[in-house]
Order: sequence, then structure tokens, then C-alpha cells
Amino acid sequence: KPTEHTDIAIIGAGPSGAAAAAWLAGRGHQVRVFERGHFPRFSIGESLLPQCMPHLEACGLLEFVANAGYQHKNGAAFCRREEYTAIDFRHKFSDGPGTTWQVERADFDQRLIEGAMTLGARVDFGVTVTDFDADPQAPGLEVVNEQGEQSRIQARFVLDASGYGRVLARLEQLDRPSSLAPRAALFTHVEDHITATDHDRDKILIGIHPQHPSIWYWLIPFSNGRASVGVVGEPERIDAVAADDSARLQALLGQEPRFARVLENSRPVRDVQRLAGYSADIERLHGPGFAILGNAGEFLDPVFSSGVTIALDSALRAAPLVERQLQGENIDWATQFEIPLREGVATFRDYVDAWYDGSLQTIIFHQRQEVRLREMIASVLAGYAWDTTNPYVAASRRRLKSLAERCAMDQQPG
Ligand code: FAD
Repeated sequence: KPTEHTDIAIIGAGPSGAAAAAWLAGRGHQVRVFERGHFPRFSIGESLLPQCMPHLEACGLLEFVANAGYQHKNGAAFCRREEYTAIDFRHKFSDGPGTTWQVERADFDQRLIEGAMTLGARVDFGVTVTDFDADPQAPGLEVVNEQGEQSRIQARFVLDASGYGRVLARLEQLDRPSSLAPRAALFTHVEDHITATDHDRDKILIGIHPQHPSIWYWLIPFSNGRASVGVVGEPERIDAVAADDSARLQALLGQEPRFARVLENSRPVRDVQRLAGYSADIERLHGPGFAILGNAGEFLDPVFSSGVTIALDSALRAAPLVERQLQGENIDWATQFEIPLREGVATFRDYVDAWYDGSLQTIIFHQRQEVRLREMIASVLAGYAWDTTNPYVAASRRRLKSLAERCAMDQQPG
């Protein structure tokens, strides 16, 4: 088998791989990315958070997506039966941008990886990573192309950005079950034909099923008249609705009054797709000669659109450490990478848990919220989950619980 050499080998060309590749290549490092697919390729995960913007800028990729004409996004709207409320990300506690985009990932991911190539990364598409040799100084990858030709890549450091491929979690036996209950998502793209004047295209719309609050919907409009629509819930409950996924999605959308009304003229432009069991955790995010980024490590839940934010954040934490390690520094990956990364992920997890136990829904739909508190929560939903000066980051679980109790009491008649 031929052996090739590179300083940094990255598995996967999604947002986390592209961001790490761009940062490192932009600083003159030798970077190779191995991507099993061919871009553009469909990916779910289309609603970004404002925290993505400084991250894209920091890795040098913002300029490659800034003029793509993506749908502007300034917040999240929520509906439950006849209730409707919106959180505006521009009114938030933390510093940083308050707006971002809703993107078709086929286009977005392609622009990001082409940006990384412009900055000097070499990307091989149609090449799958099949094996890994852990070694602190000289980690190695086995790769195979579409002609079945195998080769060995000898690197000085490996970053696993393989998303749902979870290459190193599998090969290094690091998989660990998620604390979140298994859920399934059904989704498609539609020509949305939305004419409803009370629909705000600048926000993701999250709907809650009128009878089953654990089932929720998303509507993510794009700038080209299309939108991403989907539903998430326990697989048994979703399966009970109809005989096949397409009929299930249609029936469930029809059961939520606002979604049914807003999407009454929409036409699907893709087959309905199903993803299940996507929540995943991992023993550790680093090992001899490697670190794990984005979804290849831990993935929570789509409800707050935190996936790409965490993917970019992990890449931007890892890339400077890779540089320092290659320069001979001794890096403690636990304290400098994994622990701080996981702090923000834990904040998001508290919000996801609070969503599914109903307390966050109580808070979000509470009408008489103190402005400052709403800004603190808006900050986390905008992706600023690492800002520990925000009390709703620093003690998220406890504060969400007591705020939900106060909101519930306040809502009781009399
Ligand atoms: P990916 O984008 O998955 O990229 C990984 C790449 O690695 C892929 O291109 C793959 O082909 C490649 N690869 C895999 N295995 C191999 C291999 N063996 N060799 C070579 N290449 C390989 N996030 C948001 O931010 N906003 C949302 O609105 C949102 N909605 C979501 C809805 C649902 C239902 C789900 C399940 C997730 C959602 N997410 C959302 C999460 C989002 O999809 C991911 O967090 C994000 O794509 C992670 O990026 P990544 O770079 O880590 O991995």
C-alpha cells in the first residue's frame, strides 16, 4: 500500500472539517481533508445561530459565504395551539452578532470547503477513511477511493470531523449512549408559497403538537422561495400516525394549526427523509495524536439548532492547539480542549432537557417575562452558550427550573 505524508489529516469536509482546515491552512500548515462524498451534497442542519458568525470569521471562511444571498435570520418564533411568541436574537445579553442565516447546506458546505481549499487545504472527495492507528507522534489513516485503491496516510495529527460517520468513536471504541431519549426526525424541502402576512421569514418557526408536547416541528425558510420543514418525536408516536414517512409528515403538519395554514400551498421538492437515533455521546474527545470535532463527538438534539455552532466552536478550539502541538508544545487536550468545549455543550443540554420536560416551553410562552431575563435566554438560543457572565449559562439548570416555576405560578388564575 502506498504511504503519503501530511502534517494534519482531517476526516470529513462538513462545517467542522472545513473550519479546522481553513484555520490551519490559512496559517500555512499542510492540511489534507478526506471526504467520502462529493459536494454539493444534501445535509440537514440549515438554521444557523449568530454565534456562528464570529467563528466563520475567525477561520477565514466568512467571506466565502457572506455574499451567497442566504435568508437573513434574527431569531426564533414558537407556536403552540393559538399561542405565538418570538425571541429576537438582537435583544440579547451577550456581546456579538444578533443575526445570521438560514442556509441550504448543500450550497453552504460546498462554499466552506472551497474556501478552505482556496486557503491552501487539499481535499480528496470520494475517499473514505476506513482505519486508524493511534500514535501520539505519527497517527495514521487507511483510506480507500471509489476505484477500491487503498493507501495509508501518515500524519502528525488527525482531526475527526466525520459527523454521523463517527469514525474514531467507532474505531477507538469511544461511543457512549446519549442521556437523551431516542427520537426520530422526518423532513423535506418544499416550495413554500407562503403568503400568510403573520409569518416571519427571518425566524425559524418551532411548533409544538397540540396534543403531544414532546412532538415538535420546524419551518426554516430559505431566500429562494423554498423552506425546510420537519417534525421530531418519539419513533413509536410518529410511526403510529400513518403507514409511511411521507404520509406521516403530511398528517403531522396538518395537525398543527399554524403550520397547516402557513404551508397550505406548499409543494415538496424532495422525498421525505428520516433520521433516527442521532443523539450520541462519546467517552472522550481526544487521544494519542487525534481530537474529535462536531457531530463526530457529541450530538444533542436539533431543537435549538446548535449543531453547526458546536461544530465550528470545536474546530476553532482544536485548530490553534494542533498548531501549538506541531510546534513542539505539550498540549493538555482535556483541560484546553475537551472541558471548555463541553461546558457550552452542557449549557445547550440543560436547555434541551428543559425543552422536553416542558419547563422551557413554560418560560418561552410566558407573556410577562422580565426583559433582562428574556435577553439572557435569547443569548443562549443565539448560541452564546459559553458566556459564563450570563447567569442563565453559569447556572442554567437551576435557574431555568426556578424561572419555570415562577412563570407557572404567575400563569395560574387568581
Ligand atoms: P457533518 O456536517 O455531518 O459532516 C461530516 C462529513 O464527514 C460528511 O460530509 C461525511 O460524508 C463525511 N464522512 C463521514 N464518514 C466518513 C469517512 N469514513 N471518511 C471520509 N468522510 C466521512 N444544526 C444546526 O446548526 N442547525 C439546524 O437547524 C440543525 N437541524 C438539524 C436537524 C436534524 C433532524 C438533525 C439530526 C441535526 C440537525 N442539526 C442542525 C445538526 C447538524 O446537522 C450537524 O450538527 C452538523 O452538520 C455537524 O457538522 P459536522 O461538520 O460535525 O458533520
